[in-house]
Amino acid sequence: APALLWFRRDLRLADHAALTAAAAGGRPVIPVFVLDPETEAIGAAALWRLGLGLEELARSLGARGMRLVLRRGPARAALSRLAADTGARALHWTRLYDPASVARDTQVKAELRREGMETVSHPGHVLFEPWTVATGSGGPFRVFTPFWKSVRGRGQDPALPVPELRAPARWPASDRLEDWELGAAMNRGAAVVAAHVAVGEQAARDRLSAFLRGSLDGYAADRDRMDRAATSRLSENLTYGEISPRSIWHAGTRALEEGRPGAEAFLRELAWRDFAWHLMHHVPDLATANWRREWDAFPWRGDSAEAEAWRRGRTGEPVVDAAMREMFVTGTMHNRARMIVASYLTKHLLTDWRIGLAWFAECLTDWDPASNALGWQWTAGSGPDAAPYFRVYNPALQAEKFDPKGHYRHRFLAGYGPGRPHGDALSYFDAVPRSWGLVADTPPPEQPLIGLKEGRARALEAYAALRGT
Ligand code: FAD
Repeated sequence: APALLWFRRDLRLADHAALTAAAAGGRPVIPVFVLDPETEAIGAAALWRLGLGLEELARSLGARGMRLVLRRGPARAALSRLAADTGARALHWTRLYDPASVARDTQVKAELRREGMETVSHPGHVLFEPWTVATGSGGPFRVFTPFWKSVRGRGQDPALPVPELRAPARWPASDRLEDWELGAAMNRGAAVVAAHVAVGEQAARDRLSAFLRGSLDGYAADRDRMDRAATSRLSENLTYGEISPRSIWHAGTRALEEGRPGAEAFLRELAWRDFAWHLMHHVPDLATANWRREWDAFPWRGDSAEAEAWRRGRTGEPVVDAAMREMFVTGTMHNRARMIVASYLTKHLLTDWRIGLAWFAECLTDWDPASNALGWQWTAGSGPDAAPYFRVYNPALQAEKFDPKGHYRHRFLAGYGPGRPHGDALSYFDAVPRSWGLVADTPPPEQPLIGLKEGRARALEAYAALRGT
């Protein structure tokens, strides 16, 4: 009997423990992707990007004489039906750790086992299973540095090769990917964002090699520079599992052994991703509730005209606006810029971090439930290992330091800096929904939403009130 391989955020064939197990002993494999309500609930850009990833995965399966079977509906019903259609007796998948996936997978497991299926989940989405990293007293880590110390020297098994894949005697029916219209919710020029994505396993490997060749040595020094392409951009591929974190870890470790500068810093960042999943596993409401409960009393502002100006890149603070536009045009945002805009929203505008988190989830093609939640809580000050609240980023000073000549701002802001706006600065106006009423010559706001000093003082006052000091 064939085995079902249920693809989710692991759209690759290499280093895929679940696929390898499903195909063991020459057993025929039926690869399936289920568009279930949990998946349909993700943001517009992420869903659109998922569609591109599925198309690429189907192509690479096709090149091996295989297919990707597409089914829609609640996973447990869809998989149970597929098992009945095909006579499959086993179901394999790669584990995820966000609460929506965990709830769904637990249900799938219980129900299909009741029907006599063998169901097996496998590691592969993170470097270290969240429960295998523990403090001296056996609990979860809440601070990154000791987490890093505990994992940095750990070995990893070698990556797995693409297994020999055998097709079933007969392929079951499949939906057509086009009919799912995964890009339908992109109320903006998907064509603009499409110029910035790198889809699929080969593209991910190419990104990794280009980074190792080009930017790794300068990574530690340059990773904060918004005006340089100094980082790997692998987050987009990691979130869909187009490359395994383990193969990146191996490459980084090799570079470290060769004494290459930048390797340690790169591995450390990769471990931040694992730390985020570690936290989400142990704190399932990381994306929805203040991790420090005392923050429930903070006078967060809800959604407002100011928050809307932030979303549209019209705060009047050039680096904030440039970054928000970078996200809209490219589907991603420089890490330093993410911290700056998150600090601006939560501190200068006193706005609830969950409002920012939701907009990131809507716009990012590298949206990751754990890293996004950790990034927002960390910057807002409400999270584990958070930046202290009094560290209010000054966007102007940040820009001076990390975009000294203004190239980054000029790249994304029409009307900023010398020379005519071009490229991405203009693409922004092709990308925005018409309802925003912005055209290429809409001037930037004359007045910033709030003075930087004034905003900082206001934030610190609110914080003092929270602490009762
Ligand atoms: P590189 O610098 O090349 O780093 C290599 C890899 O390490 C990344 O691909 C990523 O997987 C991991 N990594 C690096 N920095 C971090 C970090 N701070 N936290 C967790 N993992 C990290 N990352 C996402 O993948 N998805 C998100 O939705 C997301 N939302 C964020 C929201 C906020 C408010 C903040 C402050 C950060 C967020 N990050 C998120 C983390 C970080 O900004 C991105 O991972 C990084 O910009 C990706 O670029 P890169 O692949 O070139 O990273």
